[in-house]
Amino acid sequence: MSTMIVRGAVAVVEAEGRVRTGDVAIVDGVIVDAAVDSSGATTVDATGCVVTSGLVNAHHHLLQTAFRTLPGTRGIPMREWLPAMASAYAEAGVDPELTGLAARAGLAEALLSGVTTVADHHLTWPRGADTVGMARAAAAAAADLGARLVFVRGAARDDPQEAAASAEAIVRALLPGVHGGVSDDGMLQVAVGPAGVHSDPRETFALLGEVAEKHGLRRRTQANEVVDVEIARERYGRRPLDLLEEWGWLAPDVTLAHLCDVTDAEIGRLAASGVSATHAPGCDVPMGWGVAPVRRLRDAGLAVGLGTSGGGSNDAGHLLADARLAMQVSALVGSQLPASEVLALATTGSADGLGRPELGRLMPGSAADLCLWDVSGVANAGVADPVAGLLWAAPGRKPRTVVVGGRLVVDDGRLLTADEDQIVAHLYERVRR
Ligand SMILES: [Zn+2]
Repeated sequence: MSTMIVRGAVAVVEAEGRVRTGDVAIVDGVIVDAAVDSSGATTVDATGCVVTSGLVNAHHHLLQTAFRTLPGTRGIPMREWLPAMASAYAEAGVDPELTGLAARAGLAEALLSGVTTVADHHLTWPRGADTVGMARAAAAAAADLGARLVFVRGAARDDPQEAAASAEAIVRALLPGVHGGVSDDGMLQVAVGPAGVHSDPRETFALLGEVAEKHGLRRRTQANEVVDVEIARERYGRRPLDLLEEWGWLAPDVTLAHLCDVTDAEIGRLAASGVSATHAPGCDVPMGWGVAPVRRLRDAGLAVGLGTSGGGSNDAGHLLADARLAMQVSALVGSQLPASEVLALATTGSADGLGRPELGRLMPGSAADLCLWDVSGVANAGVADPVAGLLWAAPGRKPRTVVVGGRLVVDDGRLLTADEDQIVAHLYERVRR
């Protein structure tokens, strides 16, 4: 039995609206009641820190970590952005090596910014590529660094049959003998999801849905950014959500990312279907897609998580920075979201959309994924509410210490599980920049 006690925190955020002081006790990777026998325990000093659950990035495209700030990809409509990104992928040659190196960099960045679980919606599958090898490379990067990964076998104009066969092979290779899509230790999850109705036909949704049903996987897609709405209108004369509903993709096991352009009537239909949502303002705002009406989605009863989306649009995988942005821009589309609620999006909301109620909270029985945020520095001086200050004050804040499943992976702001300089060097070497 291994016991860890996190001691002396200014505040411990257990879940939305549940903030306390006192110790956090961990036994064998699980949060337990703080009254546990602490003799022989590893003690982690949290003096001056707010302790939260590890953040859950519900929507990322880790491959794009290798393609940040590319010339010709900023300030342009998505119709031009997509081919610009596609030609960069083609030039670099997406294979298991690049997938693994980009994932290592993106996951290291995640851990160093307090994100302990990343949903990687992988959308780039060149014809004839070793798709199982690519998925294995991303999974190996996560295992090596000690991050939780949700590998989403996406599709973007892939042949529907090939995409489904690949998804089937990936789930068998990554999670042999597992039903429900999550490994026994909870460190790896597999899901499926086409990029959206703008890129994939009904057949792809149907066939990937069959793989999901067979293996009990979650389904994820993107909906109602500008180009999605435009193309749905041009190609089908419909709204994206009409199509998703007809295709059986508005359901409790589905999470929709973006949702910038939704009507009140559509929000009602989304809520009735049990679907969940992922807000990604760090992508939607710079791309000019708009701001998802999170207040109205939450009020209607949807679980809403937070994601960064990929480096091709966001350029960063810093979820707390995007939580701050979510809070700031929320006032443009309704009443402002309080910090405590936005923190809940980035933790419980994201976890719930992944079907992972053990993640994103610090209650007895929760997975011991947590961050220590030092709030004692000058950038926090004068802050009245240390939990609200986590988001409002000190933009770009990084955690001092990060624990995943009871294991220390970041301490003193440094990655303990790999050499950060090597991760950077290897990715640059591979993409020759
Ligand atoms: Zn996205």
